[in-house]
Amino acid sequence: MISSLKCNCKLATYITLILLTANNVFTRTNYAANTDMKKIFCIIPMGHIDNDILQHTQMELEKRFNVAVEIGRQLEEPTYAYHKHKKQYHSTRILKKIHNLRLAGYDRILALVDVDLYIPERTFVFGGADVNKKVSVISLTRLRQEFYALPDDPALFKYRTIIEAVHELGHTYGLYHCKNNKCVMFLSNTIGDTDHKGAELCSNCEKIMERKKDILKRE
Ligand SMILES: [Zn+2]
Ligand SMILES: [Zn+2]
Repeated sequence: MISSLKCNCKLATYITLILLTANNVFTRTNYAANTDMKKIFCIIPMGHIDNDILQHTQMELEKRFNVAVEIGRQLEEPTYAYHKHKKQYHSTRILKKIHNLRLAGYDRILALVDVDLYIPERTFVFGGADVNKKVSVISLTRLRQEFYALPDDPALFKYRTIIEAVHELGHTYGLYHCKNNKCVMFLSNTIGDTDHKGAELCSNCEKIMERKKDILKRE
């Protein structure tokens, strides 16, 4: 009996290791675990976007949505969306343009721009998404501390990028704005809101996301 326990010791350690690894797949930050086949997202840089931020976003989205993320070819700055009086870019026009590219083979598209975005109803937006077309865009401009005349903080900049990327991609899964100001789907009116809410879904949105995924899978 004792010897058999001894023998099983290594096996137990091995099983624990496997369980730990498996557990990792279902961490709270993994919004889209349990999918049968990996979906593919595409990140499109519009204008010059640093490689560092592209790769960080790619890695984080792969982990958080349990998908493969490819970085697409860089497109030109969206001059077609520019409003000369506002000196900003209309996010809806950018979404249309991305959709019209008809990129095949991707489940969702996220464009990264480094210009300030607006929609007619708001003075600015951090990003935008089209739920039916499954395309989204985020702007890096207001995510840097320098925009608020504060010292540079690269780690915070990267984290804010993930928050806004997850928020817009969340919309493409059919999630609406959430009243919980600690949920990533809360509508940020200020960068303070973004910092406060963080990149995680609240338990309610997480449940909705799971249901949406089931619907999407059946389609
Ligand atoms: Zn939103
Ligand atoms: Zn929520």
